Amino acid sequence: MTARILDGQAVADRIRAQIAQDAAAFKTKTGYAPGLGAVLAGDNPASAQYVRMKRKACEQVGITSVAHLMNANSTQQEVEAVVKALNDDPAIHGILVQLPLPPQINEERVLRLVSLEKDVDGFHPINIGLLGMKGREPLFTPATPTGCMVLLQEAGAQVNGANAVVLGRSNIVGLPVALMLIKANATVTVVHSKTKDIPRVVADADIVIAAIGQPRFVKGSWLKPGAVVIDVGTNRIDDPTAEKGYRYVGDVEFETAVDVAGVITRVPGGVGPMTIAMLLQNTMKAAQRRAAFG
Ligand code: NAP
Repeated sequence: MTARILDGQAVADRIRAQIAQDAAAFKTKTGYAPGLGAVLAGDNPASAQYVRMKRKACEQVGITSVAHLMNANSTQQEVEAVVKALNDDPAIHGILVQLPLPPQINEERVLRLVSLEKDVDGFHPINIGLLGMKGREPLFTPATPTGCMVLLQEAGAQVNGANAVVLGRSNIVGLPVALMLIKANATVTVVHSKTKDIPRVVADADIVIAAIGQPRFVKGSWLKPGAVVIDVGTNRIDDPTAEKGYRYVGDVEFETAVDVAGVITRVPGGVGPMTIAMLLQNTMKAAQRRAAFG
C-alpha cells in the first residue's frame, strides 16, 4: 500500500483564503481590522523567525499585528506590563506570547495573565482545563493541535471510536492534542520518554500523532496498515547535499511509513503551515466574538 499524502500547505492556503474574506467582511462591517498583539522576549532566532512569519501571515489576510520585542534581560514585571497593556487595548483581539520565554520569567504567570477572550494561543490554564473537561468547551484551542485535528478531518479519518496514539506529552502539542482526541471520542494512548515498547503501542493505532522532536523515530514497520499518520516533528538534520547544509525531517521515517500508512503528512508541508492558519483563525474568531459581545 502507498499512503495518500495529505498536503497541509494546500489545506492551510484554503483556510487562509477564507480568513482573508472574513477579515475583509469584518472590516467593512465594523470599520476596523482584527488585531493581533505579539510578545517576544529574548534573542532566540527561531522565536524571532516564528513571530516574523506569523506577522507576515496576518498582513496577508488583513489582520493588523503589533509586536512587542523585549530584550533577554526583561523582568517578570516588564513582560506582565506588556501583556496587561495588550489586554486593555481595544484594537487588539488576540495575544500571542511567543514561547519559550527567558529563564528568569515565570511562563505560567504570564500565560495566566492573558485575557481569556484574547487567548488565541489557547494556552491559558483555564482554556486548557476546559479542553480537558467533559461537557465543557474552551474559548480557544492551541494552534498546532487544532491543525492536527483539521488534518485528520481532511484525511477522512474516523476519529470516533478509533485507537489513537499520541507520541509526546508537551503542554503545547502532545497533551492538548490528546485531550482533543478524547473529546472526539478516540481511545487515546500517550507515549513519552518513559514508555516501554513503543513499537507495540503504535502497532494498535488507527491514528498516530507524532510530536516528540526525534528525527525519523517512528518506523513504517511499527504501523498498522492503513493508519492515518500526522507528523508534527520538525527536526533539523545535517545534509551536505542540501543548499544550506541542513534540512528538516519529521518524527516519522517517511520513506518506510508511506508504504504502510493509509494517509500521511510530510515534513515540511504538513502540520507546520496549519499552525499559522489556526492562529489566524483564532484571531478572527476573537475579533468576531468581541464585535458580537461588545
Ligand atoms: P517537547 O516539549 O520537547 O516534548 C517532547 C515530548 O516527547 C515529551 O513529552 C517527551 O517525553 C517525549 N519524548 C522525547 N523523546 C522521546 C522518546 N525517545 N520516546 C518517547 N517520547 C519521547 O517537544 P514539543 O514542543 O512538543 O515538540 C515536539 C516536536 O514537534 C518538535 O520536533 C517540534 O519542533 C515540533 N513542533 C512543530 C510544530 C509545528 O507547527 N509543526 C509546533 C510545535 C512543535 P517526556 O515528557 O517524558 O520528557
